[in-house]
Amino acid sequence: MEKIYFDNASTTPVDPDVVGAMMPYFNERFGNASSPHAYGREAHKALEEARECLADFIGANSDEIIFNSGATEANNHAIIGVARSKRNKDKHIIVSSIEHHSVLEPIEYLRKHEGYEVTPMEVDGDGLVNPQDIKKAITDQTILVAVMYASNEIGTIQPIAEIGTMTKEHNVLFLVDAVQAVGHIPVNVNDLNADLLSLSAHKFYGPKGIGALYIRKGTEIAPFLLGGGQEHGRRSSTQNVAGAVGLAQAVRLCDQRMGEEIAFQTKLRNKLLKEIPQKIEGVKINGHISRRLPNNAHFSFEQLQSESLLMSLDMVNIAASMGSACASGALSVSHVLRAIGLSDELAYGALRITLGRWTTEDQIDYFLEQLPELVKSLRI
Ligand code: PMP
Repeated sequence: MEKIYFDNASTTPVDPDVVGAMMPYFNERFGNASSPHAYGREAHKALEEARECLADFIGANSDEIIFNSGATEANNHAIIGVARSKRNKDKHIIVSSIEHHSVLEPIEYLRKHEGYEVTPMEVDGDGLVNPQDIKKAITDQTILVAVMYASNEIGTIQPIAEIGTMTKEHNVLFLVDAVQAVGHIPVNVNDLNADLLSLSAHKFYGPKGIGALYIRKGTEIAPFLLGGGQEHGRRSSTQNVAGAVGLAQAVRLCDQRMGEEIAFQTKLRNKLLKEIPQKIEGVKINGHISRRLPNNAHFSFEQLQSESLLMSLDMVNIAASMGSACASGALSVSHVLRAIGLSDELAYGALRITLGRWTTEDQIDYFLEQLPELVKSLRI
């Protein structure tokens, strides 16, 4: 029986064209991009072409792109790097309360250990940050505002351009975690006035372990990894050339297909949002109904535990998620679902369905057929 993958926000399969583009860089073109000989020059050329490709895709210049291991590193670099560059000067950071842990944790570290003042920004019931709240919270001590482009859990897309206009006006740096947006909806650093923007290739059909941090020219930021001085001294370590080539190929494919994929996924996603509450009682849709990622549908079920639903779905070959992957496997309520004001019952009954390049209408229909019975049998 066909296995159905509805967990694309957690990671995507690598597109076969991406694998094809990467392969030569594991064997005949294996050089170190810093070596001066022919092998090195070939690797360097591929790396710089990849950088150019990503830069073009997000409206940046290639010297504003740092390749790294992914968005966790990018977010840590952005936050700790900005704090280090302004050390012992201003110490105020504003952060939305629904950020990914790779943003929240380094900020919490600065608060706990380095005397930073942190203002968390509440969100409304749809998960939206109000730009006016941020405006009010900015002081002459503020060094950074961090708001994600789109939620990895509930899919809500934030008013990033409005926030960016304000941070620019107040001369405060703006970090945008664009992990769930890049490759799925248009992202342009200039339209957004982002100073720092993070992304991971494995969220848009590229390989795991490669990502990037966009750093706007002129942004004061300390290097993150110290060593051989790669990436213009901002991120030492031998570059992952095959990974960068894969990331760039993934970008090209997304660029070609984005319009079509947005239309198709939105159609399937809307079918889920419409039919699940019709077929099942006691369901709430989480996240903004229209300002949401095309591939995200997120629900809460009354009188149901997410874990048992996920296990039952697994038994009928459907891989889904509750939205927040806890590395330890421990049961805890998502801070995002708390932030949008869900009761414990609804937070524990969460189900996230995230579609991808290979999702079909038949898969959606099969899921819609299976779900009501499963929910019925599991309700407590
Ligand atoms: N930010 C967001 C919004 C994410 O969804 C993720 C991955 N779940 C990350 C950051 C971290 O990315 P990575 O695991 O690739 O480092």
